[in-house]
Amino acid sequence: MTYADIIVDISHEKLDKSFQYLVPEKLKEEIQVGMVVSIPFGRGNHVRKGYVVGISGEPKVKGIQLKSVAGIENDQETTESRLIALAGWMKENYGSTMIQALKTVLPIQKKMKAQEKRWITLLISREDGEKLLEELSMTRFKARIRLLEALLQNENGKIETAWASKELGTTASVLRYFEEQGIASVESDEVYRNAVADAENIPHVAPAVLSISQQMAVNQILSEWEHPDPRPVLLHGVTGSGKTEVYMELIDKVIKEGGQAIVLIPEIALTYQTVRRFYGRFGDKVSVINSRLSLGERYDQFKRAKQGELQVMVGPRSALFTPFGKLRLIIIDEEHESSYKSENSPRYHARETAIHRAKLEGARVILGSATPSMEAYYRAKEGEYVLVKLEARFEERPLPRVSIIDMREQLKKGNRLALSLELREDLSQCLKKGEQAMLFLNRRGYAGFVSCRSCGHVMKCPHCDVSLSEHNGRKLICHYCGYETVKPDKCPVCSSPYIGGFKAGTQQIQQVVEKEFPEARVLRMDYDTTRAKGSYEKILSAFSRHEADILIGTQMIVKGHDFPDVTLVGILAADLSLNADDYRSGERTFQLLTQAVGRAGRGRKEGHALIQTYSPDHYSIQTAAKQDYEEFYQEEMGYRLLMDYPPAAHMMAVLGSSEDEKLLETAMHYLGLFTGKIYAGKDLHVIGPAPASVGKVKDVYRRVLYLKHENYDLLVRIKDRLEEYIEINSGFRKVNIQFDFS
Ligand code: ADP
Ligand code: ZN
Ligand code: ZN
Repeated sequence: MTYADIIVDISHEKLDKSFQYLVPEKLKEEIQVGMVVSIPFGRGNHVRKGYVVGISGEPKVKGIQLKSVAGIENDQETTESRLIALAGWMKENYGSTMIQALKTVLPIQKKMKAQEKRWITLLISREDGEKLLEELSMTRFKARIRLLEALLQNENGKIETAWASKELGTTASVLRYFEEQGIASVESDEVYRNAVADAENIPHVAPAVLSISQQMAVNQILSEWEHPDPRPVLLHGVTGSGKTEVYMELIDKVIKEGGQAIVLIPEIALTYQTVRRFYGRFGDKVSVINSRLSLGERYDQFKRAKQGELQVMVGPRSALFTPFGKLRLIIIDEEHESSYKSENSPRYHARETAIHRAKLEGARVILGSATPSMEAYYRAKEGEYVLVKLEARFEERPLPRVSIIDMREQLKKGNRLALSLELREDLSQCLKKGEQAMLFLNRRGYAGFVSCRSCGHVMKCPHCDVSLSEHNGRKLICHYCGYETVKPDKCPVCSSPYIGGFKAGTQQIQQVVEKEFPEARVLRMDYDTTRAKGSYEKILSAFSRHEADILIGTQMIVKGHDFPDVTLVGILAADLSLNADDYRSGERTFQLLTQAVGRAGRGRKEGHALIQTYSPDHYSIQTAAKQDYEEFYQEEMGYRLLMDYPPAAHMMAVLGSSEDEKLLETAMHYLGLFTGKIYAGKDLHVIGPAPASVGKVKDVYRRVLYLKHENYDLLVRIKDRLEEYIEINSGFRKVNIQFDFS
């Protein structure tokens, strides 16, 4: 027997409620998640349309007479049904419930109304209106006269009720008279707020004339699009090479052919500047989604998209599910950004999900980055994606000069400050010339590693080759395999007593800078200074108007901003991200450094960058300084191959959490045993379980089990088996299990 779970109404919160139907023999082969089917519904068995959201071989409740699916409405493929099919795929591939997946992809109407406007519309012809006005002018009904005059003067014969009441003194009784006489009607319509702030003040910008290399990139992409089943394109272009111009050219083409496009941008880079650029080019065909919009506003944008009022949606990860009916292009800018991975179930990655959505809808995908993710570049090399390059900055502006500062030397030179002597010298030069500087404190991935300030040695796990994390100041723990050791008092390599955690904050840096350069105007941008609404933009625009000389900040300041007067970039603690307890730390460091270095010299003046580090020989730092992606990729891939980390293999994390620590430990231990047993001899690596990198959150304990294998589908099958195992074992009742693929 085959059973189908069907949702009848998907426009409301009712999503949680699906009904099970029997699938008749003749439809068994054909039926699929996402299809629209007709079903008998309710007491009268009226035929209604429903969406298939799940198919199974078991009834949910036994011993109940189920109704049968009446038929499949093949011609009814809708935007929703394709999104439901996408949700089904996400559920299968990333592990989650169907409800979680549906709530991720479908715009759900919260009980919130769009702002309403009411309009008075003239119903009679203009001639009749003039005649009526003449008649009325004999009377003393001044308010009626004013309203009719205004309606006749308005080109569309339409004015807003609120305006009429304020300016013309139109009362309810006046309106009633107009309606009763059939002169005008009063109707409300929903107005959808434009999500682009300040939209009416953005001037139209004519398309740029593309440079030769940009034009070549466009041509290469268009020729791939001529294939019936075009591959995703990876556009690898250095910072400032003009990738955005390439995107806009292609979007333009798509729009002209009546298609629609989604542009994903990491939330942090989704600044007014970026939005302005798209709006300037495409006008009100563009809308944006960001986390600052209310739920109602977001829903409005999705509704406008569905009704075909929009052709381009710009936004972070969630904009991927914009319900466009004629989606032809999905662009993922800064494709390597970690924010494209969801942190809630389903833990999907926007890259793969976009590629799958594109397949379902006949759209194409472009991934763009100056520092592609290892995954994307690997697939491009394998021929799964097409690699398109933009090798030079626009107008051949030179890439900045980069120097590496070995911080171990500073100690010997008697300098204990967070600013090296070299950086201090350069800053003072920069200030003298009236140019601007950015100081970047890399705090990403800071997870309490322990290192030696004398020789630079970092305490690492002997089995996993990732940094160990300090716990309670006494223990060092590996967050992959659970290896534990005592924190040493002396460096095991050089015996120096200067071994310990790495502490530096933006505030301390600001104090140092202000003391050294009392005449400089300093701005600071970090979590503390950007909590208030709008403060983020305020700081950036003040800096871009040159109201400050030095901007100090965390990774927030390195993304996608164009400050032409910045000639010096100082990177203060390259090591913080290098020593995060994660196999991606080398990749993240290379990406952050390359992006940060790329902030210097974007205008006409040449730029200079300094990287301060305790590991000057590390390949991530060396290759970022040379801005040599290819060399970085080769080195990093060697490490991934050696250690079987993605993209050399696939990895599935099984994340367990519970308030009961003992129960969690036992449950995770059994999951490990179970997998090890049934998949023995299949080259499956089972690692852990170990405490998660944040081992306890709000009294909930967290542990992780890692499984590595080169075959992704095998991991998905293991996930299915584990789900069944968890379902039938009472030991998991108080343990929450989630899956995370990479
Ligand atoms: P990327 O997205 O690769 O970092 P951008 O598209 O932001 O690069 O381009 C960098 C700068 O060069 C921007 O200020 C942009 O306006 C300018 N630029 C790029 N291409 C052109 C072009 N063809 N004509 C004029 N200006 C361009
Ligand atoms: Zn040492
Ligand atoms: Zn380990």
